[in-house]
Amino acid sequence: MTARSADVIVVGAGPAGCVVSYLLARSGVETVLIERQRTLDREFRGYGFRPPIPRLFDEMDLLADVEDLPHETISRGTVVAYGKSYPVFDFDDRRVLLLKQPPLLRLLIERAREFETFTFHSGTSFDGFRREDGAVAGITATSRPDGETHDFRSRLVIGADGRFSTTRRAAGIDAGMDESGTEVVWFRLPRAAADFTTHIRIEDDGVLVYSPLSERESQYGLLVPEGRYPAIRDRGIARFRETVAGIEPAIADSVESNLTSFDQCSLLSVRSGLAERWTDDGLLLIGDAAHVASPIGAEGNNLAIQDAVETHRLLTPVLARGDGPISNATLRRVEGNRRPAVERTIRGQRSRGRGLSSLLSSRDRLPDPLEPHLLRGAAALMSLLARLPNRSGTDDPEPSVDRSLFAD
Ligand SMILES: Cc1cc2nc3c(=O)[nH]c(=O)nc-3n(C[C@H](O)[C@H](O)[C@H](O)COP(=O)(O)OP(=O)(O)OC[C@H]3O[C@@H](n4cnc5c(N)ncnc54)[C@H](O)[C@@H]3O)c2cc1C
Repeated sequence: MTARSADVIVVGAGPAGCVVSYLLARSGVETVLIERQRTLDREFRGYGFRPPIPRLFDEMDLLADVEDLPHETISRGTVVAYGKSYPVFDFDDRRVLLLKQPPLLRLLIERAREFETFTFHSGTSFDGFRREDGAVAGITATSRPDGETHDFRSRLVIGADGRFSTTRRAAGIDAGMDESGTEVVWFRLPRAAADFTTHIRIEDDGVLVYSPLSERESQYGLLVPEGRYPAIRDRGIARFRETVAGIEPAIADSVESNLTSFDQCSLLSVRSGLAERWTDDGLLLIGDAAHVASPIGAEGNNLAIQDAVETHRLLTPVLARGDGPISNATLRRVEGNRRPAVERTIRGQRSRGRGLSSLLSSRDRLPDPLEPHLLRGAAALMSLLARLPNRSGTDDPEPSVDRSLFAD
């Protein structure tokens, strides 16, 4: 067993964990980041980074490097229903970056490594908390494949380990998940000759959402009623390909030659969650660990990175003072600042999710042309890829990076 101490242990190298680690390490806070996977090449994670994330990357001095990664931008989109095209959003001058997570996470870790206050352990899983006087005072973890065990003491543990968070579970915190009537079967194809301003297509055969992912690849999602996927698999991949090609004939050849097995597909529930609390003495949950984002509205990365920025702003000055554990009362300030905006977003995702599942269940009797309320349901589908601009003017204030805390 190895033993070491740090100010902060961050569990999980997703967008939340990587951004908070980079910011804390750059501010002179000794930070250890652990990640269960040995590589960051995970599939089917959110690739949409909507405003204000490009601005936050700029404030972190990372925007130029991020824009050097292979990426796309989108500013407008349409729903096509039975051959008719309906505009559903136009971002004008606002940009949504479409960018794969692995290169972004690698970049964040590489830049964090420039600070000697940062250490990264890949292939290392959280096992449980160390506790002192009832408060979280670090973690135990195991590295693969060598089975080496670690005893990390820290003043603060940040649980950034995603929707199935083991830190949340170990702290006995309920994830607050809702029910959902819809699931999405995701898969990728080489970028084909389809019209990519179309992001949703509704036809007799079903509903397909899609978007360019890079110069070479696109990501597609077939919406299915919850619980139907095992039956779809039983009918075989050929039937699945037929369904997809029936909705979007332009990709029929590509589907036929590239989608050969359900192993290339990933099932995602359109469920969201809001944990009953995000803190304990010595423990703060951020990102999906605190609030599971459904893919509706492309909000997950956005919320996770904003949590990380606010955590850095509020906790760096506290970490610079004294050397004891960080109290629950202090950590609750982070939750208090972030929770109202997150709650509103999750509420919005849930209501759009309900619209989406009623659209799916009414698909057999869709009139042509679409009735306005069904078009609104289609707009909810569109927001799987990009949130509609908020026309009510009630947007919550967005956090900014506090650059005065940087030590360099
Ligand atoms: C198909 C799909 C499409 C999506 N589309 C979008 C989109 O377009 N835009 C958007 O903003 N959001 C989207 N989302 C949501 C977005 O991906 C998440 O909200 C975001 O990744 C959350 O970031 P995070 O850092 O909190 O958690 P995650 O990205 O889930 O990262 C958590 C990390 O913790 C690690 N981990 C887990 N357990 C342990 C452990 N025990 N020990 C150590 N490490 C551990 C995991 O391996 C993982 O690397 C989508 C999600 C999916 C699944």
